[in-house]
Amino acid sequence: MAKYDFDLFTIGAGSGGVRASRMSATYGARVAVAEERYLGGTCVNVGCIPKKLLAYAAHYGEDFEDAAGFGWSVGERSFDWARLIENKDREIARLNTVYARLLDEAGVERLEGRARIVDPHTVEIGGRSFTAANLLVATGGWPTLPRIPGIEHAITSNEAFHLKELPARVLVTGGGYIAVEFAGIFNGLGSRTTELYRGELFMRGFDDDVRRTLADEMRKKGVDLRFGVNIERIEKHGSLLRARLDDGAELEADQILYATGRAPNVAGLGLEQAGVALDGAGAVVVDAYLRTSVPGIWAIGDVTNRLNLTPVAIHEGMAVAATLFAGRPTSPDHADVPTAVFSQPAVGTVGLTETAARERYGALDVYRTSFRPLRHTLTGSEEKTLMKLVVDRASQRVVGAHMVGPDAGEIIQGIAIAIKCGATKANFDATLGIHPTAAEEFVTMRTPVASP
Ligand SMILES: Cc1cc2nc3c(=O)[nH]c(=O)nc-3n(C[C@H](O)[C@H](O)[C@H](O)COP(=O)(O)OP(=O)(O)OC[C@H]3O[C@@H](n4cnc5c(N)ncnc54)[C@H](O)[C@@H]3O)c2cc1C
Repeated sequence: MAKYDFDLFTIGAGSGGVRASRMSATYGARVAVAEERYLGGTCVNVGCIPKKLLAYAAHYGEDFEDAAGFGWSVGERSFDWARLIENKDREIARLNTVYARLLDEAGVERLEGRARIVDPHTVEIGGRSFTAANLLVATGGWPTLPRIPGIEHAITSNEAFHLKELPARVLVTGGGYIAVEFAGIFNGLGSRTTELYRGELFMRGFDDDVRRTLADEMRKKGVDLRFGVNIERIEKHGSLLRARLDDGAELEADQILYATGRAPNVAGLGLEQAGVALDGAGAVVVDAYLRTSVPGIWAIGDVTNRLNLTPVAIHEGMAVAATLFAGRPTSPDHADVPTAVFSQPAVGTVGLTETAARERYGALDVYRTSFRPLRHTLTGSEEKTLMKLVVDRASQRVVGAHMVGPDAGEIIQGIAIAIKCGATKANFDATLGIHPTAAEEFVTMRTPVASP
């Protein structure tokens, strides 16, 4: 008889947990996965997927305007938020069933409810106990809110996906990618949108040219972007919300959305009692192989609070499965992870920012271009596209590529392959462009703009 009920017990059926469970089962392990809320986790239910669907919706407003330059007359337009949310929910319900089927087909036992670790080999869920040789913590993260008076009147991204109606005036606070994406969504759909960020310039961690360009472009599209300011208190007067800012200003809104941070989902999980080390932010500390401080307990994805992205959680899930059940100890590779921000306009980025590259390599060649895309020569739109390559001068390797503009995520995905392969600027130069595209600019930039 087996010593444990399962070889692997995964807590959390999100991006990482589902993949780790499925892969482990495919390798022959006996696997169970516990999920307390929704299959597919944050990304499928209240993250990447619904966010991108809303971003598509937001773009249509501009597309109708642009169509006029191409000879189209678009009749009276109206937008139905309830229909969008209903259609989005239907698609997500479909995805939930796809995840259930994938787990079932792989032979993973699905358990519904909140799991708690009792000891390094025992998990309790809904009054039942299960034992496993290995436990995998894949519980993700959760939005955090600051403690200011009236904060109970604010919403987070979780609620934004389920609003009953489109707010006429919305205040988004935060300077990360979730904040800029929601500001773009609401603005594009017609809400009067203000975004506040307490720092000097939002999108910390992105290349400075990207940050400045995105701010300019969002302002051109009508977002009231205010930096160096924060909300001190929120008051509710009937259905109206009033935010008092620390610069003395007052803003009225129908919704106030906080996107100021997320915390690892560890509360009540029993990690401390089991002896699992957490860092100062409450994230599970793991080594290069995703082992926690307790043998037999592993952790992946947002709960480790490193690169909080779906493909990273999936990659880590596959690494744990390979290490445990395929005889291939695998350490996840976090270098040159490409990422996109589905702001309006979008951002795509891979590798190092100019600042980070300068710190690491010293002398650089930086190539940058800013132009009006062909499409906008007829629309009259003043939107500009930015592209930038950061090249280590000594090796001539391209160590960073950044873009602000339509389809930035789609374009940077291809560039990311080149960077992962160690491409040099000469390799980019030797690649012919696809004409006429915006992407061809990445292989036609010839003159460095800054060479200190
Ligand atoms: C608004 C928003 C937009 C985003 N957009 C993108 C994007 O465009 N691209 C991208 O790559 N990433 C995006 N992300 C990030 C992405 O969603 C996360 O990085 C990813 O979901 C992390 O996967 P995970 O497996 O670590 O955790 P999650 O997907 O969060 O899954 C964790 C699961 O564990 C469950 N759980 C927690 N505790 C327990 C318990 N005790 N018992 C049982 N179940 C439990 C939760 O219910 C959840 O389903 C976005 C996130 C947000 C919030």
